Amino acid sequence: MDAWTGHEVPKLPGNATPPELYDSSRRGVFPTTSGPAATMYVCGITPYDATHLGHAATMITFDLVQRLWRDAGIDVTYVQNVTDIDDPLLERANRDGEDWIVLAMRETALFREDMEALRMIPPAHYVGAVESIPAIAAHVRELIAGGAAYTLDDGTGDVYFSIAATPSFGYESNLTRPEMLTLSAERGGDPERPGKRDPLDPLLWRGARDGEPAWDGGDLGPGRPGWHIECATIALGLLGNRIDVQGGGNDLLYPHHECSAAHAERLTGESPFATHYVHAGMIGLDGEKMSKSKGNLVFVSRLRGDGVDPMAIRLGLLTGHYRSDRQWTDETLKSGEQRLARWRAAAEAPTGPSGEALLAAVREALHHDLDAPRAIAIVDTWVEAALTATGTDPEAPKLMSRTVDALLGIRL
Ligand code: ZN
Repeated sequence: MDAWTGHEVPKLPGNATPPELYDSSRRGVFPTTSGPAATMYVCGITPYDATHLGHAATMITFDLVQRLWRDAGIDVTYVQNVTDIDDPLLERANRDGEDWIVLAMRETALFREDMEALRMIPPAHYVGAVESIPAIAAHVRELIAGGAAYTLDDGTGDVYFSIAATPSFGYESNLTRPEMLTLSAERGGDPERPGKRDPLDPLLWRGARDGEPAWDGGDLGPGRPGWHIECATIALGLLGNRIDVQGGGNDLLYPHHECSAAHAERLTGESPFATHYVHAGMIGLDGEKMSKSKGNLVFVSRLRGDGVDPMAIRLGLLTGHYRSDRQWTDETLKSGEQRLARWRAAAEAPTGPSGEALLAAVREALHHDLDAPRAIAIVDTWVEAALTATGTDPEAPKLMSRTVDALLGIRL
């Protein structure tokens, strides 16, 4: 599948070091890589609806990781998937009487447009679940052959992964078993299903059902893949047995990332699958959680259609730390627009305080677990000074503009 078109990222003077990031499994901030290369897998959308601000905030988080690695001279390989076959997609297509393929293609195209408008550096590989089915089915067969998976004996052909097959199951999310049971039920798992060896065992392959699309699974019979094995297979195929960062929203901590790591580790015999499991906070709207069930999603494409500058959306989302669950309000957007206007005015100022000092301070703020709010405050201080003509460096406005473009993805 094709990704979107990227923009040129300015090269900045001086040296930077790769960022330190919070890893959910070790529950602390640790260096990512010492170079020369880094790999990142970010869980992408299930294209049944348009990109909302929560998706955008997650994607911006990992866009910053990529920008900081590149600034440090790291050779980055970034993979993102699109879950173009799964239950939510079929449910939405059925609800609206639409062909699921048409729905998936339309929403994926819209997502690409949104990503381009928000100036996300595209992944090296943008991969769909459907195009990965032969590789996924081969992994499921391998897990069965190795005793790590089993077929339910209820005639459905459904295959489950045995969590007992990985001794370290639970290390990534650090949750208790009761917490895992609750989240499994809430997030697409089926702990109540009879016949499973363990209620937490996740689905690897869903046998064909009437009215649902199905693909040839060889010995598995016709069916379609589970979500966790989809990400494990795509990541292993393109990035190798061990990746530097697996990323997503914090609602993927469990079961998705825990299970995809367990699948990958059982397949390769290497652990951990990812050095860092990195999770972005959720975006709420006016004090409420933003969710499809509440019907209060704010779509990036809708804001764009209303004439909002995507850079103001990006700035608004960056004013809260990426790990925090945070709120989006009219005020967030308004202050994003005002800040963007001030920054643009300052970029046109004849002089400003030292551009090198600004660049060093922004790099330093982002280096420690992507402290974008602090980086923005540093730029704000510089901007106020430039607008009141207190600086004397004629090159500084240009360097300020390049700095926020390259490191924050804000094009002035
Ligand atoms: Zn995933």
